[in-house]
Amino acid sequence: MPAGDTDCLFCRIVDGDVPADVVRESERTLAFRDINPQAPVHVLVVSREHHASAGELAAADPHTAAEVLREAAAVAGAEGADAGYRIVFNTGAAAGQSVPHVHAHVLGGRSLGWPPG
Ligand code: AMP
Repeated sequence: MPAGDTDCLFCRIVDGDVPADVVRESERTLAFRDINPQAPVHVLVVSREHHASAGELAAADPHTAAEVLREAAAVAGAEGADAGYRIVFNTGAAAGQSVPHVHAHVLGGRSLGWPPG
């Protein structure tokens, strides 16, 4: 499904209807800073097309799924998270997914505990 779903916040960001602090763009992805950062580096990488979750994206379009991961690593490098970073795909309400449009959280710039909460 292409972006343009007016009910989907991240589709609206992709379409430029909602402002975002964009840090990186690729043909199939957009990366922008999380509005409520949980670490010094906290960037979201989304597919331009609407897919509800990482698993659904990978099943429907593995090429774009790989691009999301590649862009997430590029963001971490560009943001200077050289000491280590985490890529998180919350999936489903119990895991804390609040926006049903696939997004990789790229977190870094501080020590990250394990296991996550
Ligand atoms: P999740 O809870 O895993 O679905 O992640 C959604 C993320 O989107 C949260 O970390 C929010 O802080 C972030 N978020 C919500 N609205 C915006 C926005 N307008 N711009 C940037 N990030 C946002």
